[in-house]
Amino acid sequence: MAKIIDGKKISSDIKDEVKSEVEALNKKGIRVSLAVVLVGDDPASAVYVRNKKKACEYCGIRSISHELPGDTSEETLIKLVDELNADPEVDGILVQLPLPGHIDEKKVTDRILPEKDVDGFHPVNVGRLSMGDPGFVSCTPQGIIELLKRSDISIAGKECVVIGRSNIVGKPLAMLLLRENGTVTVCHSRTSDLKEVSKRADILCAAIGKTEFVTSEYVKEGACVIDVGINRGEDGKLKGDVAYDDVLPHVSAITPVPGGVGPMTIACLMKNCLIAAKRKAGE
Ligand code: NDP
Repeated sequence: MAKIIDGKKISSDIKDEVKSEVEALNKKGIRVSLAVVLVGDDPASAVYVRNKKKACEYCGIRSISHELPGDTSEETLIKLVDELNADPEVDGILVQLPLPGHIDEKKVTDRILPEKDVDGFHPVNVGRLSMGDPGFVSCTPQGIIELLKRSDISIAGKECVVIGRSNIVGKPLAMLLLRENGTVTVCHSRTSDLKEVSKRADILCAAIGKTEFVTSEYVKEGACVIDVGINRGEDGKLKGDVAYDDVLPHVSAITPVPGGVGPMTIACLMKNCLIAAKRKAGE
């Protein structure tokens, strides 16, 4: 019987751990705070921001909200980031993506000080990840490693195949799996014979953005399958990148969608805020 990896439970354990560490810091007079910047009124972004603020509240992290109109100029946004960088009260800065089309996202995220870059998108943090140095790691891939470790799925020596090479999921996930001593292969839209490559995987991670793309034909018997995809199906329901029902009888462990990788992203964001505050306080 396959193990269904419970991201809801694991993410709530992590939030509880953060909460108790935040309480301990508060007793020493150290507060933890996250500045959350939202530009425009994209409904999905508004939901993400609301959930992040809710998680902050739960963990005892102060969230400082900056909601700007959709026609905010790049210059104004960068000025705000500079102010937040300089503000000693702010431990972490999160600029919700996507930004409106007239703003260069990279220019904005690159402007956030690496010490406050709790999303782990800054080139300095990406570089630190690849060098194996401490920094901030993108929250979704970090959450996947937590899921594996807390489900007692060992990574060392395993064949790990990541489908997807985006900067926020595929590439950092590959680096993290490598750091955990996995033997890592990264696939993408130009990979020839993807089925053959993914069938080698002991741990198969799908971060493609295509509904139910990974069927049992891509999966080795007994593999562990991590489904990063969040896609809205025609019926309006959330669907992963993995054809769950088809793959389930063949795997040893799998993450469901929803309730697998999804909740881990915010939990790891909370963890990164705590780390930022501890580093700043020299803890
Ligand atoms: P991107 O669109 O940035 O990247 C998708 C990757 O999939 C690309 O590297 C692309 O290859 C590859 N790909 C696309 N089609 C194929 C194919 N036919 N065969 C092999 N590879 C293919 O997506 P993200 O990484 O941002 O997100 C991936 C999924 O994860 C989405 O469903 C997204 O919603 C979800 N997601 C979930 C999060 C969570 O919290 N759980 C957080 C972030 C994302 P190429 O580079 O060659 O184009």
